[in-house]
Amino acid sequence: MSHGIERRGLMMVLSSPSGAGKTTISRKLLQSEPQLKMSVSVTTRPPRPGEVEGRDYFFITPEQFGLMVNRRELLEHAKVFSNHYGTPKGPVAEALALGRDVLFDIDWQGTQQLVEHAREDVISIFILPPSTRELERRLRQRAQDPADVVAARMAKASDEISHWAEYDYVVLNEDLEKTLLQVQSILHAERLRRRRQTGLGDFVKRLRDGV
Ligand code: 5GP
Repeated sequence: MSHGIERRGLMMVLSSPSGAGKTTISRKLLQSEPQLKMSVSVTTRPPRPGEVEGRDYFFITPEQFGLMVNRRELLEHAKVFSNHYGTPKGPVAEALALGRDVLFDIDWQGTQQLVEHAREDVISIFILPPSTRELERRLRQRAQDPADVVAARMAKASDEISHWAEYDYVVLNEDLEKTLLQVQSILHAERLRRRRQTGLGDFVKRLRDGV
């Protein structure tokens, strides 16, 4: 880190209804931010075509999920569309300890739990689709899920969107490049928060003492 100033890693949450473009934004953000690490969730839902174990999710059975909950191995967990999802604790703790930032693609239930757990270290961003019509078009276009699942997700979208006001930031995803820039700006500004730059006091003292 420049000037040798230590910084506490932060936890950046992206939430949105499915189809608002969150997965693409996360991928691009990870490419442009080497200090940012994705938190890979566990889920009991089956993999979609093209999804990779350990990159998109760790796909586990309901029994394995239950065990992880009982052993308190999850930082947060929730049921979404009749499947269970959760964030493994270990990798997050490891990344934060190294001063890296962690990106979470989780729903509003998980966000609430993270905020309760670590208010000071969590930044939450809600991504809104430009319109219901566009949201529906994106969900159809994706065509990875059966039609009844798409319909269920449309219904669920309204429920997810109802939680927008619980987030620190809200970004309207009309244009991918613009949205990406906005999310990067949030991350860059939050990294500069005084309380996150833990070694700043010593650095400023040295500056003032002229050494
Ligand atoms: P999908 O099945 O489309 O990948 O994800 C469905 C929803 O579950 C998305 O809103 C996603 O953000 C959320 N989700 C994914 N992983 C987790 C997790 O570990 N915890 C919580 N609370 N939500 C998750």
